Amino acid sequence: CWITLEGGDGAGKTTQAALLEEWLAEAGHTVVRTREPGGTEVGLLLREIVLHHRGEVTDRTEALLYAADRAQHVATVVRPALGRGEIVIQDRYLDSSVAYQGAGRVLGREEVRNLSLWAAEGLLPDLTVLLDLDPDAARSRLDADDKPFDRLESERHDFHRRVRAEFLVLAEAEPERFLVLDASRPVDELAAAVRERVTVLLP
Ligand code: C5P
Ligand code: MG
Repeated sequence: CWITLEGGDGAGKTTQAALLEEWLAEAGHTVVRTREPGGTEVGLLLREIVLHHRGEVTDRTEALLYAADRAQHVATVVRPALGRGEIVIQDRYLDSSVAYQGAGRVLGREEVRNLSLWAAEGLLPDLTVLLDLDPDAARSRLDADDKPFDRLESERHDFHRRVRAEFLVLAEAEPERFLVLDASRPVDELAAAVRERVTVLLP
């Protein structure tokens, strides 16, 4: 069983991933919690390039670095864990690439989706939880927690508005795969909604 969490910066993906992991582990499941970019050693190097040399990295290079991170991650972490019958909870996957690089950087939905699917050997998760949040609200939330809002893009509201809109388009296109939640709701309510949907997926 493979669950991915998606949404903009500050939507609460990491918090929900941790709560879900805790709940599943308590129920006796073996859980692998992982993330993109940076879910492998190679991926950490790629994450470093893509996040800390962003000024030098062109948009297409950025898309390819995320794809490379994904290829390594799927092949060495996700696929083996699923093969062992474990539950994978993953912070960001290819929907992030379509939203950020495809829409945010305007590289194109189909192009980035095809690149991502190729990198991922065509694998799609059983469930994708989209934590939908207005970028302005996300930004105030990160400020309040003293966490950095996406550095170089911090002033570019259009970028984050495109990302949010694209996530919603993707969710609408695949309603069976997506659970869309209003991320401004309280953390425990969101966690309960996630658990309810995950329950039906469990063996
Ligand atoms: O989710 P996480 O905090 O690990 O993401 C790190 C940064 O990478 C975020 O600022 C996010 O906006 C960015 N990102 C991106 N394109 C992706 C995935 C993440 O720009 N495909
Ligand atoms: Mg996070």
